[in-house]
Amino acid sequence: MACNMYYEKDCSLDFLKGKRVAVIGYGSQGKAHALNLHESGIDVVVGLYEGSKSIQVAQDAGLRVELTPDAVKMAQVIMVLVPDESQATVYHNDILPAMQSGSYLAFAHGFNIHYAQITPEKDINVFMIAPKGPGRMVRSTYVEGSGLPALMAIHQDYTGDTKDIALAYAAGIGAARIGVIETTFKEETETDLFGEQTILCGGVIELIKAGFETLTEAGYSHENAYFECLHELKLIVDLVNRGGLAFMRNNISDTAEYGGYVAGKRIINEDVKSAMKAVLTEVQDGTFARNWILENQAGRPGFNMNKRIESQHPIEVVGEKLREIVIKD
Ligand code: NAD
Ligand code: MG
Repeated sequence: MACNMYYEKDCSLDFLKGKRVAVIGYGSQGKAHALNLHESGIDVVVGLYEGSKSIQVAQDAGLRVELTPDAVKMAQVIMVLVPDESQATVYHNDILPAMQSGSYLAFAHGFNIHYAQITPEKDINVFMIAPKGPGRMVRSTYVEGSGLPALMAIHQDYTGDTKDIALAYAAGIGAARIGVIETTFKEETETDLFGEQTILCGGVIELIKAGFETLTEAGYSHENAYFECLHELKLIVDLVNRGGLAFMRNNISDTAEYGGYVAGKRIINEDVKSAMKAVLTEVQDGTFARNWILENQAGRPGFNMNKRIESQHPIEVVGEKLREIVIKD
């Protein structure tokens, strides 16, 4: 299914003229959005909580900072860039009571809207601009005169011009220089969660660990196993990212290419795909979201336990040593 793409020619910053944007939170995304919008000539106010260390940092960067309810009161566009787990609380305590009818409430990820942790009133516009990368790249590419692509979605359009505002916002952070892809809150949220769980932050990590364990259990050195199963992954991923799968295969040895054809499907087989489908179902039916919300309410016992156990894995121990002495770039 093809989707709509938008570029700078499709966007006008004028739609944000006379409006003020409140960027709530000054972390990875918040800092990049606030600085990029500010340098694009948009009136920005950063919203933070009493005692936040970021207040001074944002002020030193030349930005106006207010407590979140005050920032919301003086703005028409409110971009929520606090952690996803805190958004519902910040929304109900600090944003909702201060937000005026006809405001534009914006997100960089669809989790809280899609899983109904936040259900804005009918007279509020709701859109998403989700850059496809970390905040530091949203910022560095903007400074270089480029940008990161972003996903755009409209959830509620009360005033009839939410798409114009969303595209102006995308232009303001530099995303329209590269491309804005239209999607829905549902599609962005579900594909994002599926991707990070099965491939990016789950599947690939377990693949690395399984390879490392297989080699070291067979008596090979931890150092060798680390380089082979973890360190070299980046070289391959960089090739795939640059030119696709065939490009990668053309830039490795024929031995590696042949080995990949015959062994790859033995490792990632139909069982893996049915497990992926099960994970996707739990993303779609809200099971994962409910578990993650409950985990947070319980003080994150499972999260913290996993973090502690994983940090003690031999691949982490040898990796720390090797990165210190060998791999300095
Ligand atoms: P972050 O953890 O880096 O930053 C969160 C910020 O919110 C911090 O400055 C923190 O001090 C502030 N904050 C916390 N509680 C607050 C409160 N009560 N009031 C005001 N500020 C408060 O978060 P992030 O990674 O920038 O994520 C923000 C949003 O962007 C999330 O929806 C996330 O899914 C989305 N996103 C992140 C990335 C990424 O790579 N980091 C990429 C795309 C989208
Ligand atoms: Mg993601």
